[in-house]
Amino acid sequence: MSLSQRDQKYNWHPYTQHKTAAAAVAVVKGEGALLWDENGKEYIDAIASWWVNPYGHSNKYMADAIYKQLTTLEHVLFGGFTHEPVVVLSEKLMEILPSNQKKLFYSDNGSTAVEVAIKTALQYNYNKGIKKIKIIAFEDAFHGDTFGAMATSGITFFTEAFKGSLLEVVRIPVPTKGNEEKSVQVLKKLLKTNEFAAFIFEPLVLGAAGMVMYSPEVLDEMIALCKAHSVFTIADEVMTGFGKTGKNFATDYLINKPDMMCLSKALTGGTIPMAITTFTQEIYDGFYDDDINKALFHGHTFTANPTGCAAALASLELLQTPEIQANIKRVNQCHLDFENKIKNHPKVKTTRLLGVIFALEIKSDIKESYYGTLRNKLYYFFIENGVILRPVGNVVYVLPPYIITNSQLQKVYQTIEDALEII
Ligand SMILES: *Cc1c(COP(=O)(O)O)cnc(C)c1O
Repeated sequence: MSLSQRDQKYNWHPYTQHKTAAAAVAVVKGEGALLWDENGKEYIDAIASWWVNPYGHSNKYMADAIYKQLTTLEHVLFGGFTHEPVVVLSEKLMEILPSNQKKLFYSDNGSTAVEVAIKTALQYNYNKGIKKIKIIAFEDAFHGDTFGAMATSGITFFTEAFKGSLLEVVRIPVPTKGNEEKSVQVLKKLLKTNEFAAFIFEPLVLGAAGMVMYSPEVLDEMIALCKAHSVFTIADEVMTGFGKTGKNFATDYLINKPDMMCLSKALTGGTIPMAITTFTQEIYDGFYDDDINKALFHGHTFTANPTGCAAALASLELLQTPEIQANIKRVNQCHLDFENKIKNHPKVKTTRLLGVIFALEIKSDIKESYYGTLRNKLYYFFIENGVILRPVGNVVYVLPPYIITNSQLQKVYQTIEDALEII
């Protein structure tokens, strides 16, 4: 039996209706932007394995750093103990984070990073005896799948079954081009009620919604409004962090900085699951007290795992090399050339580009559902042709490892052009 067949016996895959989905592709090897399945078929990983892998698969520099840590100190509990990798990683992150970020809380994945941010916003107010228990989020946002993160996510069929069990979240329209004023007006109205603890957003790019983009200017305005009303702002940079937008963080495009940031995905270069929530001193001080009940009683068994920290350190070093910075610019330029070529194609409705993120929306009469017919047709066409892309409804996006070669990128673009001919 093949790996793919054996997999079906026991494994329950994410976001998968097993009755109708094809069997999972069994990947046996990865190198750079390429993956190979058990039959020797080659694929270009054009979405960096769900946006986690900027430096390529089986990266030797990362692997060596991880091996060294594994054979020095693989793990130690973070309750009452600390270690060199986490101390150094925090110091290094402080050098590139917005200067108002002063404290870091470690966890395991994007969803937990968001949970920590939300719980902190709520408990900060509770500690001060202020009743602010609601959260503001964007329509179509995605912040993860655990309960708090899910409540702030706006993709309804992901969350419909859990209505009634969720935190109270009020959604505002995404301030895409032409919708800025509407979005700001709704936010202003909500802020006047004084019921909100925080506003959470994916800065500049809503990933899972289909790489929906909006301007730094409007986000700056929204952050300023929240600050004026003492509502915390949470930048969920789980997708956008570590170079994806062309800068280290999407918030680097802003003048007004958020109170909290959520980091994961590319944090460890696609090797070991880890996440960080970052905070201003003001937030930390809201928990700093003689009263133990005011502490943040949150933690995870593998919090600040040394091996994960070593991976993140190696990852940060790579990010800051001139080669990787040049690669980010190169990928952006290739995307730009392709955008100019494809944007007037009769089947293309619109295109979007920021950093290494490129998306095109296919013209469609019906509103395509997230996992609808068009999406599936495209997805299986790409797989068939050795390119891993996961369209979202009628949106096809490319978010490759930064080290993808020009010829690999050209193959991705050509396959997208071919796909436009078969639909
Ligand atoms: C992926 C993602 C998450 C959730 O991260 P997980 O590691 O899958 O839990 C949260 N926020 C954003 C913006 C994401 O892209």
